Amino acid sequence: MIDFTLTDAQQDLKERIDAFVAEKIIPYETDARNTAHGPTDELRVELNALARDAGLLVPQLPTEWGGMGLDHVSTAVALEAAGYSPLGPIAMHCAAPDEGNMNLLVKVATEAQQDRWLAPVARAETRSCFAMTEPGGAGSDPTLTTTAVPDGADFVINGRKWLITGAEGAGVMIIMADVPEGHGVTPGATMFLSAPNAPGIEYVRPLDTIDSSFTGGHWEIAFNDLRVPAEEVLGAVGEGFRYVQVRLAPARLTHCMRWLGGARRAHDIALDYARKREAFGKTIGKHEGVGFMLADNEMDLTQARLLTWWAAAALDRGGKGRHESSMAKTAVSEALFRVADRSVQVLGGLGVVDDTVVAQMFREIRAFRIYDGPSEVHRWAIARRILGS
Ligand SMILES: Cc1cc2nc3c(=O)[nH]c(=O)nc-3n(C[C@H](O)[C@H](O)[C@H](O)COP(=O)(O)OP(=O)(O)OC[C@H]3O[C@@H](n4cnc5c(N)ncnc54)[C@H](O)[C@@H]3O)c2cc1C
Repeated sequence: MIDFTLTDAQQDLKERIDAFVAEKIIPYETDARNTAHGPTDELRVELNALARDAGLLVPQLPTEWGGMGLDHVSTAVALEAAGYSPLGPIAMHCAAPDEGNMNLLVKVATEAQQDRWLAPVARAETRSCFAMTEPGGAGSDPTLTTTAVPDGADFVINGRKWLITGAEGAGVMIIMADVPEGHGVTPGATMFLSAPNAPGIEYVRPLDTIDSSFTGGHWEIAFNDLRVPAEEVLGAVGEGFRYVQVRLAPARLTHCMRWLGGARRAHDIALDYARKREAFGKTIGKHEGVGFMLADNEMDLTQARLLTWWAAAALDRGGKGRHESSMAKTAVSEALFRVADRSVQVLGGLGVVDDTVVAQMFREIRAFRIYDGPSEVHRWAIARRILGS
């Protein structure tokens, strides 16, 4: 039987997070430490302390890493509630890219790597970043131009990355680089772990982007003869793309979960405005043009939630969820963007002013349609799978 009601445990968790975000986190949205390049680390640490006190830090992690050991569907409930404020996932330390990186390190890192790199991130003492995309190189097509050449007990990495979220101030960087043939090891894409302040990592420039919710912003960086010891290879040499898939399917879904909460917030603000604002002798919600936008929002939000839960349930059944998460990521990011866009429209001029979070949600969700696979790339992959070619 398909049952869409929440279990008592899920309902209880949702209510706890709803209350935490409303009472403790939303007041920080006007804090001056929210910058164009995301909330500062000082603000993040303050918010993490609030979540820790409330017993809501890293709910998505296994219990041995301080989390609640939630399944993917329960994580969907928790992260939607967290995402009601752009600061909720930062506070609860379930925001991108840390959430996906921690999941990857839990699954693939050795015990020594987990002690060194994962433990401080899981405790929210520091953050992490994931460096794969390259200017003019790896993007939708992940073919890497950054190389990692074996040299004695080390690999020497050279190349350039950009759009690396949270790079500045992170405690660990996961680097994707190509090991060329002819060096006596398995060639191919490989993941490496490094301290982001290691000699050989150059912070070229912070990028001014339309979004602003990620601590540390987005960076262009260069690797100039960065030396990484062989024991800091994450998983096996040449297996990087396999681990990218381990990270990506759940990470795409957690974006859907968080931004679903954000779009619901934008819709709630639009609803409230439509109930109160009068034009031409009645509240604007009673004009059919506005009422229909709100009705469409309600339908898009509900479809987005159901699709996210459906894909999460596929992961809970032990599947890889590649096809499901591709469909969910594409359809949900586009549905939530429609919700954010209509919410801006319902608010009129107020919709483009940063006096509410609606304008920010619009910008954030626009970017969401690009990262972790632009819609066209997912459609292309879905089509190839259903065509069987
Ligand atoms: C806010 C933000 C944060 C990010 N954070 C990170 C990060 O932390 N780490 C990291 O490594 N990367 C990060 N990225 C990079 C992101 O993953 C890439 O932008 C994304 O994979 C697309 O690659 P690209 O930008 O090179 O676009 P391109 O590969 O240049 O693609 C451009 C466009 O071409 C079209 N296209 C491409 N292939 C196809 C196809 N097969 N069929 C049809 N159309 C196609 C799509 O419309 C696509 O939007 C981030 C990006 C953004 C916007």
